[in-house]
Amino acid sequence: MRTLVMKFGGTSVGSAAHIREVASIVRSREGSRCVVLVSAMAGITNTLFEMAEAARSHDLDRAIRLLGKIEQSHLEASHELDIATPDIIGKIREIIENLRRRIHGIDLLGEFSLRVMDEIAAAGERLSSLLVSEYIKCPLLDARKVIRTDNHFGNAHPKLPVIKRNAALYLEPLLESSDIIVTQGYIGSDDADDTTTLGRGGSDYSAGLLALALQADEIEIWTDVEGIMTADPRIVPSARTVDILSYEEAVELASYGAKVLHPATVRPALEAGIPVTIRSTFAPYGKFSTISPGESSGRPCVAIAMRRQVMIISIIQESMTDQAGFLAKLFDIFGRLGVSVDLVSTSEICVSVSLDKRLLFEDLLKNLEELGQVSVADNRAVIAIVGDLLRKTPEVLRTTFIAMDGIPIDLISMGANGINLSLIVQEADAERAIRGLHTAFFEGGSR
Ligand code: ASP
Ligand code: MG
Repeated sequence: MRTLVMKFGGTSVGSAAHIREVASIVRSREGSRCVVLVSAMAGITNTLFEMAEAARSHDLDRAIRLLGKIEQSHLEASHELDIATPDIIGKIREIIENLRRRIHGIDLLGEFSLRVMDEIAAAGERLSSLLVSEYIKCPLLDARKVIRTDNHFGNAHPKLPVIKRNAALYLEPLLESSDIIVTQGYIGSDDADDTTTLGRGGSDYSAGLLALALQADEIEIWTDVEGIMTADPRIVPSARTVDILSYEEAVELASYGAKVLHPATVRPALEAGIPVTIRSTFAPYGKFSTISPGESSGRPCVAIAMRRQVMIISIIQESMTDQAGFLAKLFDIFGRLGVSVDLVSTSEICVSVSLDKRLLFEDLLKNLEELGQVSVADNRAVIAIVGDLLRKTPEVLRTTFIAMDGIPIDLISMGANGINLSLIVQEADAERAIRGLHTAFFEGGSR
């Protein structure tokens, strides 16, 4: 029998109607063993963080109001799903009451630890999984029994050997008695049985871990778009789903804002030969993307992605040519200040790096000024053209420059892995550039 790990993101479980859709998708997999992981209902994790912050700043009213909102959404959904039995209501209330105690504690102390925050954050997935399992009428497994991690609260690292053992101990026997099991994404526990989380967006990670532990046949990531698109459809209405792509292509695209999957988190599963598909809960029989071990798009350009809010910092140092170790000194500054740089371009006397605008701060500039004359170009966007055969297809450059149609390019970088060509342009030009590139690469435009 095939084993599927199906992960449903926040929007997929965001309302009673959507949870019904989830149930029908899961039931359509009859004949397979399905481990269903759910995220918190859309917006709930953020609300939990806001609630804790409100309590920390002694805004107890606001914290309680936010808690009320969380309670309300789950109670309402349970009524709409016709599962509002005293047992379910009791379980929802228990989680809410526990949160209420936490809020009062935080308000009293005026602070909270990451450990406490993880326990609070985990409530989102605990609540959503309760609704989903009850509606599907299948066993609910507390993911904390299986996903063992270190105690790096807020961003815990999984302990794979223990997870494998726990999956064999707790999950396999449940799958003997029921083909469908519901559990939570994102959450785990440490050796002291304290609740941990795998970091924001961590449900994909949970899916990868469980798939690996169970040697599943496939990971299905269910989200609100039909897979990875050739470009952001809000910018390019004719953008379409990419059928198949490699892990490397997916990583490049995700790091440029194609946010449908947290690719690093499914890497171990892919390495173990487990394919990942990305599908839409809102179009379950629509198109989807497959990231498959050992396969790739076989295209010079599989998709075009963009990240806004980028800036370029240039350091000009006339005597740089004679200076050994200039780059080392430069990157030491970024390293020490914990600023991650993105693209780098160097010429005889000038080094330019691009970084997320939000990472720029006074200290960084002051340190850089010790090395040379610093200039900053703001309001930029990086456009990434990604494709497995990019490097091997010389026309890509010609096509790109023709498609850019005179739009000034501030910085250009061809990734050494040969699958990424990045261009930095003014943010105001970025959408026009993407439309031109999309036409050229996907709509039989000038090549
Ligand atoms: N609910 C968590 C978050 O919003 C985890 C996830 O959705 O993957 O970050
Ligand atoms: Mg989420």
